[in-house]
Amino acid sequence: MNPVFADLPVSVFETMSRLAREHDAVNLGQGFPDDPGPEDVRRKAAEAAVEGWNQYPPMLGLPELRRAISSHYQHWHGLPFDPDSEIMVTSGATEAIAGALLALINPGDEVVLFQPMYDCYLPLVRRAGGIPRLVPLQPPDWRLTEEVLEAAFTPKTRVVLFNNPLNPSCTVYARDDLERLARFCRDHDAVVVCDEVWEHVIFDGREHIPLIGLPSMRERCVKIGSAGKIFSLTGWKVGFVCASPPLMRVLAKAHQYITFTTPPNLQAAVAYGLGKADDYFTTMRRDFQRSRDRFATGLRSLGFPVLDSQGSYFLNVDLAPLGLNEDDESFCKRLVVEHGVAAIPVSAFYAQDHVRSVVRFCFAKRDNTLDTALERLAGALRRSAKSSSIKE
Ligand code: GLN
Repeated sequence: MNPVFADLPVSVFETMSRLAREHDAVNLGQGFPDDPGPEDVRRKAAEAAVEGWNQYPPMLGLPELRRAISSHYQHWHGLPFDPDSEIMVTSGATEAIAGALLALINPGDEVVLFQPMYDCYLPLVRRAGGIPRLVPLQPPDWRLTEEVLEAAFTPKTRVVLFNNPLNPSCTVYARDDLERLARFCRDHDAVVVCDEVWEHVIFDGREHIPLIGLPSMRERCVKIGSAGKIFSLTGWKVGFVCASPPLMRVLAKAHQYITFTTPPNLQAAVAYGLGKADDYFTTMRRDFQRSRDRFATGLRSLGFPVLDSQGSYFLNVDLAPLGLNEDDESFCKRLVVEHGVAAIPVSAFYAQDHVRSVVRFCFAKRDNTLDTALERLAGALRRSAKSSSIKE
């Protein structure tokens, strides 16, 4: 068996969700909202399954969805993508990432990965034959500094995998960091796989700046988006890829032999959803921001040091100042087993130079879910403080 997959543990999300079920815990681990998603979009999917075409749709995606994606990015970012030659629909953003890595990497190419990194990146890069170049970003700002980029890029760099907004650090990158990254990519003639699935889930009036829109980046970026994140429908697995025609031609070959197509009823519903008026998107942001603030305030009042969350469904707490004598992994195990709250240890997003004091919570939940979690978490810190002082 191929050791890349054979030697991997079960994903941290699956592990924590299983533990959550076993211990009847509030699951703030794996990132999915309590909200069932917009009813009109779900009804469209149901209608399309009953009334519509359920055989293979076109390989690149339904024309109506590719047109909707094009209009959506034109409207939100002023980016014109040709629906026929620059847009492709995939079965989730993970398929798009896997396909892009398989299509772009030649064995021996160096691939830049910024840590913390989403868990599928490293095995997919390795399986594609890439040599991972792992570079740690530093909390609390996780900036793409000149030093970080100097350490990341070499003459062998061919591909960069870049997540913005960044899960799990919850960072929305500002223009100066993006310009710095773009300069390094141009200087090293590298292609960037831009995982931008959180592009709409951003807070405090922040702006998402797609890297592909920066000068001379159009030809060297693969922009990946996700309907699951935009419509709180994470199980749908409808992703989209935007890239210039020479890149897209090769990406399409990978897609054609991985999933080939994506369920047509879901595509029709997403096409409808992307056309929604701006206030759907602004309300979604406002509602998640409200949940973030409710949960952050609760955590702070319990004594948890909460880090800034600029985007995504998550916020992090840094255990370091608490002196608990416990790393993130044992803290999360104890939390789920003894207190009935599941969270994610952020060290799972590292392959080396681990940060071991940060714990990620999903706040995309109903108020009463968050409140129950907060009640249970109250005991968790008190108990830890005591048990760690006993150990000492
Ligand atoms: N994107 C989700 C998260 O970060 C996890 C999805 C999965 O379980 N693979 O929590």
